[in-house]
Amino acid sequence: MSMKYSRQREMILNNLCSRKDHPTADELYLDLKEELPNLSLGTLYRNLALLSDNGTILKFNCGTSDRFDGNNNLHYHLICDRCNRLYDLDHAPLSELDAMFASDYEGKITSHLLVFYGICKSCNRSV
Ligand SMILES: [Zn+2]
Ligand SMILES: [Zn+2]
Repeated sequence: MSMKYSRQREMILNNLCSRKDHPTADELYLDLKEELPNLSLGTLYRNLALLSDNGTILKFNCGTSDRFDGNNNLHYHLICDRCNRLYDLDHAPLSELDAMFASDYEGKITSHLLVFYGICKSCNRSV
């Protein structure tokens, strides 16, 4: 792996971790193009796939596009049916869920993801 690629990956990750809006690859690309003029969309997609496959970032399917989250601490999300955006929910995570479900399961449970669907605050206000 060349230095260039790992530096790009680091900058992609830094950008993603510094924001809370769970961007799509296209939104990230627009933002990163200023600091990384040589970045191609293909390279960005490859890096996002790699980072989500190894658990560094989270990937959510929101309607027609995937959205990414640099915060991989356990927290819950809402996907808005109207705007297809992804929001963090403030509720504290239910860490006891893992143990609850593990008690009926012969394998091992190490974590969980919980996604809610509904209408986000701003769409709900603009009805
Ligand atoms: Zn919405
Ligand atoms: Zn999040």
